[in-house]
Amino acid sequence: MTAGMASYIARNKFRPNPEWQKTVVTAPDASNPFRIVYTHTGADRKPHPMINKRFPLVLMLEPLHTCNLTCTGCGRIREYESTITQKLSLQQCLDAVHECGAPIVSICGGEPMLYPELGPLTAKLIEENKTIYLCTNGMFIQKRLKEFKPADKFFFNVHLDGMEKNHDIAVEREGVFREASKGQGRQAGRFPRLHQHHRLQRDGHERDRRDV
Ligand code: SF4
Repeated sequence: MTAGMASYIARNKFRPNPEWQKTVVTAPDASNPFRIVYTHTGADRKPHPMINKRFPLVLMLEPLHTCNLTCTGCGRIREYESTITQKLSLQQCLDAVHECGAPIVSICGGEPMLYPELGPLTAKLIEENKTIYLCTNGMFIQKRLKEFKPADKFFFNVHLDGMEKNHDIAVEREGVFREASKGQGRQAGRFPRLHQHHRLQRDGHERDRRDV
């Protein structure tokens, strides 16, 4: 844990922001997305020990829902079909970051590399000393890498579904694994921070488990 993160947690534990300490209700409250809803109402019901010490650690910022791929089983592009063409403005993204206040911003989607203002957005987050996780399928790293400033707290998080054969089956397109790998090669030269997020299936992917 970094010193900045430790101090953020300590500060909020001892002096929690009143904005996040709203009264807990049993019915969903759309105006307070940070609520902790009780799962049962019996006499033994006890409040969560952190109930009056709530504060956000990670903001999942989704500037858009659209994606360049149509992976098997992706709920995002199917469940959000009605808003698939919409995107937030840069100012709306920054307003969400400021309102939330979390020290970590995970930028996801959809495919965030399709967001035209991703360069200015990440530059502004670096200026504000946020830790950034840019979650991507890796297809546009080569094309857009020059738009980003390297920083210690800027991580690329490339999502893969195993090794080449299984990944390309899962995303329903040949060559995607190779393209993502090329992008990671280019990225590694300029950016020291890279995570791979592998989703391994239970059935028949033993070789992937070993190779990953
Ligand atoms: S890359 Fe991600 S968002 Fe895009 S279709 Fe695949 S699972 Fe869905």
